[in-house]
Amino acid sequence: MKTIGILGGMSWESSIEYYRLINQLVKQRLGGLHSAKSVMVSVDFAPVEACLARGEWEQVGAYLVDAARQVESAGADLLLIATNTMHKLYDRVCQAVTIPVLHIADAAGEQILEVGLTRVGLLGTKYTMEQGFYRARLEDQFGVEVLVPGEDDRVLVDRIVFEELVLGIIKQESKVEYQRVINDLIGQGAQGVILGCTEIPLLIQAQDVAVPVFDTTFLHAESAVRFALDNGKTGDQRG
Ligand code: GLU
Repeated sequence: MKTIGILGGMSWESSIEYYRLINQLVKQRLGGLHSAKSVMVSVDFAPVEACLARGEWEQVGAYLVDAARQVESAGADLLLIATNTMHKLYDRVCQAVTIPVLHIADAAGEQILEVGLTRVGLLGTKYTMEQGFYRARLEDQFGVEVLVPGEDDRVLVDRIVFEELVLGIIKQESKVEYQRVINDLIGQGAQGVILGCTEIPLLIQAQDVAVPVFDTTFLHAESAVRFALDNGKTGDQRG
């Protein structure tokens, strides 16, 4: 079994989920007392988020590169950047380490193709919904059309991530708002919805939505377990 490396803390509320999921998935595959071999380096999210809010991506990149190198030094055979937003810096992190870095959007894209959908909605931070790094990967590499909410709803979805979910605050009224936003996307033709922020699955689950849901935390963790157990092979790794 290979050792899964996790660059976590963004936020720790979702890093816990990664840890739980990779262990549950390994146990399901191998049974008994088996659990995942893993290492995690978890950053202090406050200074990272402050840089993000100021648009200081260069500094955010420096934090990520430093943490990614620590994960590699600790013995990881592969790396997960345990947040969708930080995949904006995917190439920079890849260049800083020698181990493979499994892209979270690829984990979603593979599953969308697997179930045969061609047009999906995307919820995430404003960076993930608005900037090209995430949508373009899904569109260019998987041929999936990506719909995002209108501007007011993008602000709302992003605000709930940063003011509630990363703090572990789960509110029924926010769930209802997310369901409304998702239903609007379905009305525009979305055949499924990507939960493209690793904390959103804490608020919205498959049973809350009328179309298939692509939980990026689960799918990313699952791609790592496949890689770890199947001798480094995964369809999700596209560099
Ligand atoms: N965990 C979130 C994501 O998946 C947002 C926090 C961050 O800015 O990294 O995008």
